[in-house]
Amino acid sequence: MAKRCYYEILEVERNASDEMIKKSYRKLALQYHPDRNPDNNEAEEKFKEASEAYEVLRDPEKRRLYDRFGHDGLRNSGFSGFQGFDDIFSSFGDIFEDFFGMGGFGGRQRGRSSARRGADLRYDMDITLREAAFGVEKKITVRKHISCTECKGSGAAEGTAPQTCAACQGSGRVAQRQGFFSVATACPHCRGTGSIIAKPCRKCSGSGRQLQDKNLMVKIPAGVETGMQLKLTGEGEPGERGGQTGNLYVFINVEEDEFFKRHNSDIVCQVAVSFSQAALGGDILVPALDTADREEKLTIPKGIQSGELLTIKGGGIPYLNRGGRGDQIVQVIVKTPRKLTKRQEELLRELGELDSQNEGRGLIKNLFG
Ligand SMILES: [Zn+2]
Ligand SMILES: [Zn+2]
Repeated sequence: MAKRCYYEILEVERNASDEMIKKSYRKLALQYHPDRNPDNNEAEEKFKEASEAYEVLRDPEKRRLYDRFGHDGLRNSGFSGFQGFDDIFSSFGDIFEDFFGMGGFGGRQRGRSSARRGADLRYDMDITLREAAFGVEKKITVRKHISCTECKGSGAAEGTAPQTCAACQGSGRVAQRQGFFSVATACPHCRGTGSIIAKPCRKCSGSGRQLQDKNLMVKIPAGVETGMQLKLTGEGEPGERGGQTGNLYVFINVEEDEFFKRHNSDIVCQVAVSFSQAALGGDILVPALDTADREEKLTIPKGIQSGELLTIKGGGIPYLNRGGRGDQIVQVIVKTPRKLTKRQEELLRELGELDSQNEGRGLIKNLFG
């Protein structure tokens, strides 16, 4: 089924502010919330759809990618939407927390309050234009938490186990009446974890986690651009108390190249030719993008003007998800010599004589035609 436009789903204009997007999502999420619509498949789909749209439009990078390349652009950057409700609730906890405070739909939150999804991690990677064009595999080192090797993540010292908190019966939340509503807050006894560790593990002081550097090989596909993200599922921080592991997002930054400028899938470069080359035409060599030391032959047509563009077909960036490459556009700049030998000056004067006989005044007609 074709995916609907995210702006349409959230019922906002394309230039809607973050605040408007959040407000609209809250309204829809409240309307289609699964606790309010039990066993209603249509509401469930609407809820998931709105959540996915919000996930994209609230994030400036994802929104920019979506605005430029639509759903395809997001898919190429590794975005895959949500796997299920748990994913949604753990991502937008703050929004649902608000509903909760309003005395709203607490059941789902209460039931799963102690499990927490691990945080997503971000890694910024600089690559050269050539690497962006043809793909590269890079080793990165990410510092992140792993389950404590001593207590296997339980946080309890060897031979002991965490005990269920008696104050909240392990739910991590206690109800407090506020006027009309019963509002749930984190259990002060176990600080919302639902369990009490009597003897903490020595290695991790009861946190159940330890920091470790992890080496990863990241494969960058050919054709990526600055701002694209690669999602490495499950390479983020570990979840707590059975929660899902977070993801690692590798943000791509393509460094400026000294010679080539990128324009979508084309690359643009400038070459200088002499006045005589421009007037008479001939072959020159221009650097190729694919290997640092390769040059491509380019034929300069007779009488080319400074600033004119020539094209080397297929000399550009490979397309991200189909065969073929963009073009290499070469802008020819005609150089005026700063220093002349005596002989050159003689010849140019002679040429000048001929020019003034042939062309008269140098007014250029119809400059913008
Ligand atoms: Zn430990
Ligand atoms: Zn408790």
